[in-house]
Amino acid sequence: MNNQKIVKIIISVLSLIVLVYMIVTIRGIYLNKIIPIKEKISYYEKLQIKNKILEKSIKEEKERSKNIDKIYDENELKKEELEKVIYEHESKINGKVIYLTFDDGPSIYTDEILNILDKYNVKATFFVVCSKNLGDYAKKYIEKGHTIALHTCSHKYKEIYSSEEAYFNDLNSVSKIIEDSTGFKSKYVRFPGGSSNTVSKFNKGIMTRLSNELTKNGYKYFDWNIDSNDAGGSNSEQIYSNVIGALENNNRNVSMVLMHDTKVYTKDSLENIIKKAIELGYTFSNINDYTPLVHHRINN
Ligand SMILES: [Zn+2]
Repeated sequence: MNNQKIVKIIISVLSLIVLVYMIVTIRGIYLNKIIPIKEKISYYEKLQIKNKILEKSIKEEKERSKNIDKIYDENELKKEELEKVIYEHESKINGKVIYLTFDDGPSIYTDEILNILDKYNVKATFFVVCSKNLGDYAKKYIEKGHTIALHTCSHKYKEIYSSEEAYFNDLNSVSKIIEDSTGFKSKYVRFPGGSSNTVSKFNKGIMTRLSNELTKNGYKYFDWNIDSNDAGGSNSEQIYSNVIGALENNNRNVSMVLMHDTKVYTKDSLENIIKKAIELGYTFSNINDYTPLVHHRINN
């Protein structure tokens, strides 16, 4: 062999070694880098497909919830229409209705007031406050078919209107007495001083917040559109003419009369008021779920 041949063989062997080395290196790159990237891409593509499916079902859910909202709104409208029809029928059957409401009791005059109501088979509404007799009276009101409603436990404006928490603690206290003695939970409420009171102005906006909060919690609150002024110092004749005068002058279907069963003059004027109202063609009812809400304009 000559030198030239030896060089050629060496070059060939070296080339082969380089070639093998390159193949091994490229294969390594392929296995370690390219395949993982390919796997990542296909994983990413799968995620994209899943995402699309999810997006589709989200869209469908949204559509479904829109439809449910629509059905709910339609049903609410139907409910309101039905309530209106029921109310109109009731008005046609009953004509003009008076809701006698007695606040701040029970008191020493309550029994006599109950007897007068019984005598004329008039059902009324009692917005009660806490007292040691409340449990017994609560049973009596229910037995006689009157409505028992919540006024306040303490009736102390400065306390109950100091915060939402204070108001609801007070309300829950009076509610609990009634519930413990009768098992019945009243959802009808009257604010001390009415929802229009300004005595609560020391706590700005409290009446707006409380009236919203009550409604949110499933209560209904009632003010009045006739004030007998029995709490304002009127005597029996004045109470009579305050109520009857308002009935004669107003042409309302619903008269919500504010009275207090803690006043002797209220008790003394009650029978004449009932007799005259019947003569004027009125009927009486106690507050119930179909009673239209009588609300004042809130001033605080
Ligand atoms: Zn009161």
